[in-house]
Amino acid sequence: MHDIVIIGAGPAGMTAAIYGRRASKTVLMIEAKSYGGQIINTPQIENYPAAPNISGYDFAVNAFGQATELGAETVFEKALGITPHDGVFTVTTDRGEHEARSVIIATGSENRKLGLPDEDRLIGRGISYCATCDGSFFRGKDVAVVGGGNTALDDALYLSQLCSKVYLIHRRDGFRGAESTAELLKRKENVIFVLNSRVTRLISEKRLQGVEVTRSDGAVTEIEVSGLFVAVGRVPENGAFAPLIELDGAGYAASGEDCKTKTPGIFVAGDNRAKEVRQLVTAASDGAAAATEAVKYLNSNR
Ligand code: NAP
Repeated sequence: MHDIVIIGAGPAGMTAAIYGRRASKTVLMIEAKSYGGQIINTPQIENYPAAPNISGYDFAVNAFGQATELGAETVFEKALGITPHDGVFTVTTDRGEHEARSVIIATGSENRKLGLPDEDRLIGRGISYCATCDGSFFRGKDVAVVGGGNTALDDALYLSQLCSKVYLIHRRDGFRGAESTAELLKRKENVIFVLNSRVTRLISEKRLQGVEVTRSDGAVTEIEVSGLFVAVGRVPENGAFAPLIELDGAGYAASGEDCKTKTPGIFVAGDNRAKEVRQLVTAASDGAAAATEAVKYLNSNR
């Protein structure tokens, strides 16, 4: 039996583990993939106070080391659900069960897909959701980025330094991402804006060969590319826990700054929580708040 089971060892979960251990509670992190979450894909973190120029990978290694050094345990299993019974929560995973007096759900989010036929089959065969991870495979080639948020703009900028041509395909003519990055992209000769347009078909044999694009006026064109970087946002990973936490219309856990859910003893932290700003610093902040509330809950339910 653990005092706190944390589902997800990203920045929110690892911060919660540090706070939980510093309050002398037993802590188990359950992580489905590798610790660190999506920050490990960021080559350079430039907006975390007092840690300029640290890579996302180093940040994750440091945070995990800090939590482990303090005594947090970790298992690499996929959490499938939580069952409450008599003040105890059983977290079921693909490998077994873990009992806890309190649970912090810090599962973050996963890439939103375009939902096109063959999209899954072409992952690793031309389709990628991470430019910094896979961009170098497309050195000197023509690629496309789809999306209009900060991820798409940052990806297009990064790829413009590696690739021959970068088509930036966005469904509107205005970007959600930073104007300053959009301005930088406009000055790049090898970046071609394809606006008011959606990717409507993936052209492929074994690998991706191009995309069919449909403009809002109905005009259809084909663009030859060997890579398509999909950057159309992320979806929160709360589904497995829906019966115990309230979700908003977009699937985020509806919870205030105290990270409490409708089930006493269950808390949420990080990108899967409904909030305005999703950044590394706010994920860490959630982890601290959720663990602090979990400790209060444990101390008042001894
Ligand atoms: P996002 O801000 O939600 O942007 C998603 C983009 O994809 C939007 O432009 C959206 O179009 C488009 N889109 C959504 N569904 C689509 C679909 N089915 N087909 C085509 N286009 C679709 O997501 P994000 O860029 O991943 O960013 C997530 C969060 O992380 C944001 O808060 C962002 O600011 C932050 N972030 C920050 C940085 C940074 O600070 N440098 C870097 C990366 C991410 P519409 O605009 O038309 O809705």
